[in-house]
Amino acid sequence: MDGKLHAVIGAGTGVAVAQSIGMEPVETAVLMGAGIIAGLVPDLDTAGKLANKISLSHKMIQGFVRTTGILAGAYAWFGLSGYAMYIGLALGIFLLLIAPKFSQKLMLLISGVAVIAAGLAMSEIWVWLSGSYVAGAALVAHRSYTHSIIGLIFFAIIAFYVNERFAMEGLFWTLVLGYASHLLADMRFIPGNKRGIKLFLPFSQKGV
Ligand SMILES: [Zn+2]
Repeated sequence: MDGKLHAVIGAGTGVAVAQSIGMEPVETAVLMGAGIIAGLVPDLDTAGKLANKISLSHKMIQGFVRTTGILAGAYAWFGLSGYAMYIGLALGIFLLLIAPKFSQKLMLLISGVAVIAAGLAMSEIWVWLSGSYVAGAALVAHRSYTHSIIGLIFFAIIAFYVNERFAMEGLFWTLVLGYASHLLADMRFIPGNKRGIKLFLPFSQKGV
């Protein structure tokens, strides 16, 4: 399903939770935001817009590595001689060759690892758990583990610690139900979803 629809359903989930516990408009808006985030998170496993937003642009990194390679090569060619020149040229060529390898998925993985490191440094469980989720999403195939019960449980653990940290009524359930709404909306019984999701990974590959 389309990202915009997931966002709308996630927002609706947040509003519904807020309504059910009789919240004020401001808190309702916060839960709405939390619902949108939770409703979009499972698609981090796609090389898509959301993944792009939270990771450094792979195109930018590619350009940077390529430019550095050209500069290193030029510097070696014009400024160095003998061994040093060959090493400089080899380094330049090496950088040009690896530049295209900086894919969006790799940047997402690197970003996830950076968030894990930051979370560990700050001793914030929810931060490094979120980083683990992001890094994991970068490594798995689209609509696999992030769209399974295991993914939902992992996200619920993150939601638990987010709620511990920010202690807001309805936050935990908004996050969990927002995430669950995404899985539901991607299921086969919804018209337009041909593939469905592998809800029972790793125990079953069957799409539901
Ligand atoms: Zn999805």
